[in-house]
Amino acid sequence: MKYLSYWHDTAAPFENAATGPVDGRVDVAVIGGGFTGLSAALKLAKSGASVALLEAAHVGAGASGRNGGHLNNGIAHGYADAKGHLGAARAHALYQAYDRSIDMIADLVRDEGIACDFSRAGKLKLASKPGHVAGLRANFDLIRREVDPDTQWLDRAALASEIRSDAFHGGVLFEKSAMMHMGRFVTGLADAAHRHGAQIWENAPVIGRKKTSAGWEVHTPRGSLQAARVIAATDAYSGTVKGAPLGYFRRRIVSVGSFIIATRPLSEPEVAQTLPGDRTCVTSLNIGNYFRLSPDRRLIFGGRARFSTVSDQVSDAKSGRILRKSMAEIFPHLRDVPVDYCWGGLVGMTKDRFPRAGQADGMIYGMGYSGHGAQMSVLIGQVLADIALGRPDTNPLEGLDWPAIPANRGRPWFLPLVGMWFGLKDRLS
Ligand SMILES: Cc1cc2nc3c(=O)[nH]c(=O)nc-3n(C[C@H](O)[C@H](O)[C@H](O)COP(=O)(O)OP(=O)(O)OC[C@H]3O[C@@H](n4cnc5c(N)ncnc54)[C@H](O)[C@@H]3O)c2cc1C
Repeated sequence: MKYLSYWHDTAAPFENAATGPVDGRVDVAVIGGGFTGLSAALKLAKSGASVALLEAAHVGAGASGRNGGHLNNGIAHGYADAKGHLGAARAHALYQAYDRSIDMIADLVRDEGIACDFSRAGKLKLASKPGHVAGLRANFDLIRREVDPDTQWLDRAALASEIRSDAFHGGVLFEKSAMMHMGRFVTGLADAAHRHGAQIWENAPVIGRKKTSAGWEVHTPRGSLQAARVIAATDAYSGTVKGAPLGYFRRRIVSVGSFIIATRPLSEPEVAQTLPGDRTCVTSLNIGNYFRLSPDRRLIFGGRARFSTVSDQVSDAKSGRILRKSMAEIFPHLRDVPVDYCWGGLVGMTKDRFPRAGQADGMIYGMGYSGHGAQMSVLIGQVLADIALGRPDTNPLEGLDWPAIPANRGRPWFLPLVGMWFGLKDRLS
């Protein structure tokens, strides 16, 4: 078994990184080379701004190259809860922004010629317990009536043509959702940004900054550059580089491990016995699972598994064993199928699980996607570019307050307690 991301292992690496020392003067410096940072860099470069992106490791090293591969439309929260928390108008606008973010990816894939197996697969949200059906159905009724007429309710019998498992009691089909190969999209996005004129530096962690009369001096171990504006696109990884000037975000984001296994490629009869509908799937438990087929027909099966703040080989392997058990409970016929990959990554959670984007602490930022960001990060990247270009009116998150989480300094000691609480809720629901 390989302890590395399937997306990393099966995509061509980005080969156009800048070489030599980091120096020069640009309109905008972007910190972080995931979807947020790359999307911002691409839009800035296409708009004629000079832009330098500084990535601590390699493009896609963070969550963008490690996720489940789902581009799910709409908001992950119950829609009634979202309306209660955000107000009806903003909840509606945010739901539509998620939908738009997938259209935006479809456009980018077409316009920039990115070969990443993008497909409008649709998503199934699956009721894991009989007691979850009523809540899921009520959420479906509200969504269909108010914001997404393309959703459908599938009862247990109708699910049979989509997913071959006795574990589910009904579900919602979201037709606009999509899937793609995340590694190939990362490389394609980086290539497009480079082609349009962005400089992308890998192995260039930002370790400090200094205010200047013209903006900021941004420091890396490979040198420093001058920038009029700085974009922070570091999400869950904001605390991973010592000395990075990202304390404001570390106090507001909780970084939680999420883990994935990928089986060997399934035969066509095995696919027909497992996921004949070929959708992205998400279960309704708080500590639930998400799964889909890969372009080469592996089952990519993920979940929080444990409430861990680290993703390394030991932590990933422990979680991988839990995921294997969950996979066998849902698909007993896959109990002995070999698992070829096991990996993990960090999810950037906010307290209310809604992302944030705006300006603070001298930077323009977008992060806190709370596990539902592969699509939204691309849209927010463009929003951050708009802000840097003096057009702040495209931000669907404008004005959402974002207080620091008390006692959070980037090491969430309270996480095991949160895990126990959600585990208990799942057992009792
Ligand atoms: C296991 C897992 C499964 C997920 N599954 C899904 C899914 O199926 N669907 C979905 O919608 N979302 C999913 N997500 C969430 C989604 O992947 C993220 O929301 C999204 O990729 C965030 O992109 P980003 O560019 O903001 O951050 P990232 O991709 O994390 O990029 C941040 C980058 O910043 C860099 N960095 C940090 N500090 C510095 C510094 N000081 N200097 C320079 N660079 C720095 C890091 O190296 C990193 O590359 C998942 C996440 C994980 C971890």
